Formats: sequence, structure tokens, C-alpha cells
Amino acid sequence: MKIAVAGTGYVGLVTGVCLAEKGFSVSCVDIEERKVDLMRSGISPIFEPGLEELMIKNRKKLNFTTNYKEAYKDADVIFIGVGTPEKHDGSANLNYVYSAATEIAESIEKDCVVVVKSTVPVGTNDKIEELIKSNLAHNVKVHLASNPEFLAQGTALKDTLNPSRIVIGVEDSIAGEILQEVYKGFDAPVLVTNRKSAEMIKYASNDFLALKISFINEIANLCEIIGADIDDVALGMGYDNRIGNRFLNAGIGYGGSCFPKDTKALHWLANFHDNELKTIKAAIDVNENQKIKLIKKSRKYFNSLKGLNVAVLGLTFKPGTDDLREAPSLVNIPIMLEDGANIKAWDPVGMKNFQKKYPEGVTYCFTIEETLKDADLCFIFTEWDEVKEFGLSKYRQLMRNPIILDGRNCYDLTSAKKANIIYDSMGRETIN
Ligand code: NAD
Repeated sequence: MKIAVAGTGYVGLVTGVCLAEKGFSVSCVDIEERKVDLMRSGISPIFEPGLEELMIKNRKKLNFTTNYKEAYKDADVIFIGVGTPEKHDGSANLNYVYSAATEIAESIEKDCVVVVKSTVPVGTNDKIEELIKSNLAHNVKVHLASNPEFLAQGTALKDTLNPSRIVIGVEDSIAGEILQEVYKGFDAPVLVTNRKSAEMIKYASNDFLALKISFINEIANLCEIIGADIDDVALGMGYDNRIGNRFLNAGIGYGGSCFPKDTKALHWLANFHDNELKTIKAAIDVNENQKIKLIKKSRKYFNSLKGLNVAVLGLTFKPGTDDLREAPSLVNIPIMLEDGANIKAWDPVGMKNFQKKYPEGVTYCFTIEETLKDADLCFIFTEWDEVKEFGLSKYRQLMRNPIILDGRNCYDLTSAKKANIIYDSMGRETIN
């Protein structure tokens, strides 16, 4: 079976590489020449643990190209994994998906299955099918399937090779049978449903996770006020297997390319049908507020950050990725700059991307030590292992004023008490 994938971002490239690992010959298509050149020379354009190594291992089964006509013309299965970013009104921008669909229609010269992996609003697959059928250059049959992706950045390879579930949304049996054949080598529950349900499963799953994060963050905020400890509260809740112990980490809110846009897109769609989802609206509002929680906390210690040396540890929206989309750092650093802070920042993989956005005003450091040197205040935005493993006593030694505002609860309070520092984290007692 010949496979093509449209888009070589976090979803497209991981899908292509994992399918090659399972033995398929895969053409990975992107519109960006720069990315294709990098991949051809064995370099992954995105950081994802293990991806580059697996890409190199399977290079004989992988073809990288901008020539979509060549890639699609004789493919048996074509996955669409292009971006669906947020529009100003919160709805999903489907332009990339529709362009990829049109390019597929213009190129295919034999019957094939087109599989939509991109996260798209309920009903979009029907529109994609119409678009392809009305733009076909050759007299061929196209079967369209929705196959939403559930990988998480940072663990994308593991999530793709050992998925929690495979959801196949189809309106005809041929598409379903061929996709089941593609996924034969994967050990996961397979749910075959109709396309609209598959599209909805993806949004409902992401929005539920966003809701769980916003819920625990609100509880954490209340814990701080009333003197309870969110770590113990979450632990106690998690023993109940109806609740589960995952996604109960309090913090400065969710970011990334999925939860923020997928909550807004579903909320938009529900409103469009005059049926507001009030829980999702609450998750969005809580998250917006949560992202600036550390800046608010800093006002307890300083009226303004003007002239202060501020250390920032972590820029990406989560560890294990170089992705900055919707990262709390992007909300907080502009506020700090506006305030007049002298900012030094460190991130093991996200600095290059951040520097493109903020080439000036921030000093980028290659070590945590260099970042903390002479700082008056330290903000932790990402729970990188390097931060969690960095001894708290070193903050005291390196900083001018050892005040640590930890947005990810990287340290336990017992160690913080021993370190003779001010340690203000999320939903827990402030140590000073
Ligand atoms: P991304 O922005 O990282 O990558 C998209 C890629 O598509 C880019 O490289 C872009 O150049 C390319 N592209 C755009 N138009 C194209 C075209 N016509 N033909 C070929 N390539 C084209 O996006 P992503 O994070 O991989 O997300 C892709 C989709 O998957 C989105 O709908 C997203 O919501 C969904 N998703 C993402 C994740 C995640 O963790 N990133 C997880 C699950 C689902």
C-alpha cells in the first residue's frame, strides 16, 4: 500500500515516520521548501523526542517532497495532517485543509482513501468530500474517512505507535476496511463510527482535558486562599478511579496548539447552533486568568518589575517540545518587558523559536546558573527535568534575592523549607 501525508508538522511528520516504521512506503508532502530540504538531509524541522532518529532509521521508506502531484497521483491512502489554527472569532481556520483537499483532487489518478487527521469541526469532512469530488481531474473514486489524532507533543512517537484508541469515522465500508488494514499492526482498541461522531470525539476529548485542567487550577487557587494543599487534594481525588489521577497538576494553565484553539472552536460551533457550552466557556476563561497568575503573585513582592533582574526558566508550553504556541511565556514576557524588567531566559529547546519572536529585550542563557545569577526574582513557566533536578539551595547561592515563583510546582515544600528561599507555587503554602 502506498501512503502519502499532507503536512509535516507535529502530526503529519510523526504519522509518516511511524507508518514507515510499520513497513509502509510514505511520501511526506509540505508546502515549505525549507522543511522538505531539512528532512531530506536527515534533520527534523520540529523537536520531538526520538523523531529524528526514527526518521533516519526509516529513510529508505520515506520520501519528502513539495511536489504534491507526484506524491498523491498513485497513493492508495492520503492522510491530511495540515494545521487548523484559530481565527479571530475563535472558529477554526480551514483554509489549509481545503487547499490540501483541492491539491489531492487535482492530483489523484487512481481510486484512493483520503483520511482527515487534522482536527476539524463537525461536518467538515462532508465539505472536504464535496470539495474533492467537485475538483477531481481524473475519473476516480475517493473514499473519505475521519481519523482524528490523539498524540501529545513530547510523547508523540509513543502515543502514535501505542495509541490509546484508533477512531475511524466513515460513511462507506471501503474506507473503513482500508484504514483497518493500515492500522493492522497497531495494538489499540479500534472504534468505527460515522464521520460526525469521529470529529466530535476529538473535540470532546480535548475539551474535557482542558476542563479538567481549569477545574484543578480553580481548586488550587482556592486552596491557596483557604490554606489547603493542592498536591494532597489532587492525590486524594485521584484515588477515585472515576476521577483518575492524571491531568490533576495545578499550574499556570494549558497552552499549545490544541487545547486553546479546540476549546474555542467547539464553543464557537455550539454558539453557531445557538447552544452555548457553558462548561467550555468556563474552562477558557479560567485558563486566560491562570496564565497571568504568577505576574499577579509577583506584585506581592514588588509593585513593579522595573529595573529588576528577572530570571525565566522554561519558555515552551510544556516540556519535551520546542513549540511555543499559546505558551504562558508569550503572555508574561511582554508584561515584564512593558514593566521594564531586565529579563534573562533559559529553555533547553525553545529558545531559538522564542528568539525569533523576541530578538531584543531578553538575554538568552545556555545554563540555569547563568540565568539565575544576580536575579531578584525567578519565574518557572515549564517543568523541564533540568529545572526539577536543579537543587533549590543553588537559587539561594546564585540569586540576589531568592524569590521563586513556580508556575509548575517543580519542587516539594519540604525541600523548599530547608533551602532558605521564598518559594511561591500553585495551590500550596508560600514558603518564606
Ligand atoms: P503544524 O502547524 O505543526 O504543521 C502543519 C504543516 O502543514 C506545516 O508544516 C505546513 O507547512 C503544512 N501545510 C500547510 N498546508 C499544506 C498543504 N496544502 N500541503 C502540505 N502541507 C501543508 O500542525 P500540527 O500541530 O501538526 O497540527 C496539524 C493538525 O493536527 C491540526 O488540525 C491539529 O489541531 C491536529 N492535532 C495536533 C496535535 C499536536 O499535538 N500538535 C495533536 C492532535 C491533533
